[in-house]
Amino acid sequence: MPSKKKKSKKGQGKKAATPAVKKEAAAPAVKKEESEKKDESKEGLTSKDYYFDSYSHFGIHEEMLKDEVRTRTYMRSILENKHLFKDKVVLDVGCGTGILSMFAAKAGAKHVYGIDCAGIIVQAKEIVKANGFDNITLIQGKVEEVTLPVEKVDIIISEWMGYFLLYESMLDTVLYARDKWLTPGGALFPDKATLKVCAIEDAEYREDKINFWDNVYGFDMSVIKEMALVEPLVDVCDPKQVMSNSCNILDIDLYTVTKEELDFESDFKLIFNRDDYCHAVVSYFDVTFSKTHTKIGFSTGPRANYTHWKQTVFYLDEPCVAVVGEEVTGHIKVMRNKDNPRDIDIHMTSKHDGSNGSFANDRHYRLR
Ligand code: SAH
Repeated sequence: MPSKKKKSKKGQGKKAATPAVKKEAAAPAVKKEESEKKDESKEGLTSKDYYFDSYSHFGIHEEMLKDEVRTRTYMRSILENKHLFKDKVVLDVGCGTGILSMFAAKAGAKHVYGIDCAGIIVQAKEIVKANGFDNITLIQGKVEEVTLPVEKVDIIISEWMGYFLLYESMLDTVLYARDKWLTPGGALFPDKATLKVCAIEDAEYREDKINFWDNVYGFDMSVIKEMALVEPLVDVCDPKQVMSNSCNILDIDLYTVTKEELDFESDFKLIFNRDDYCHAVVSYFDVTFSKTHTKIGFSTGPRANYTHWKQTVFYLDEPCVAVVGEEVTGHIKVMRNKDNPRDIDIHMTSKHDGSNGSFANDRHYRLR
């Protein structure tokens, strides 16, 4: 499979959707028993601190900063639009290392406030100082709990996107900040996001990750196959695997969307563009900064340049025999898990009545 080459080039194999980058700096409650032993090399922080506060470690920030598609698009949206930032009061929601705050200050903002609950803010304060910015104020705390020295801000910048766009629900935090502090007519960077699906051929990986459990050293471990099917995989799909058009399943306008609308359902229709076996539905997202002079944005799709979000793969129970021009219709329902709102429950049905027979798939998935 051509995607192998791309995977090995990146040095990152397909993995379950447990994210390397967590958008919310706390971990699921079930892990509360984690060891608390001291790690002297990290200056007093315990392994428990890092578990509960994964954004405190520079490694996660390194991964995000080195994602050039991500970071350069934010940089361009801000620095190529100085006319929007000049003399404005800006809020950076989840400032991390302070990178977006510094772009905004460099673009001429009057004052930038950055908020982050993770320990990285200690370094961020030193970073803004080392770079000579005296109009950036960084505040440690949860956005939902801190007090800002100003009542309103002109612009909110934030990099909130998770796997499958919504995983770990940091968008809720941006909407909270919008409703509390954004001045009427103020701007959000970015302000649009779209979640999409398309169909892929993925025989080799399905064999390796799903069918593997049918026969493990001669033993039937297929009970785990069922569990593996439930967990969407986060990894890179080669553009050559794509075998249909893409269909939008969610369009978010950040100015108007409500938290409740992020639990959603949508129909989709995909038209096969070749004769092949279809093994999975793949999801990815695009984001747009539409207030900018020329529209700026990026895609995390299989045809776009690599980003650390990769794509999210939902395997079908059985492959579907696809014929060019024929369609698969489906329905997807996406809901935050009631017990752990950071997890996402996804119910997807799809059906295909084609010249090579009929196919139907009905499955519950869980991103955790
Ligand atoms: N803006 C930085 C970091 C983005 S990662 C960059 O672009 O590189 C998202 C950051 O948001 C993390 O550092 C995380 O600790 C922070 N964060 C997530 N939820 C938060 C909340 N509710 N309150 C404050 N910070 C939060």
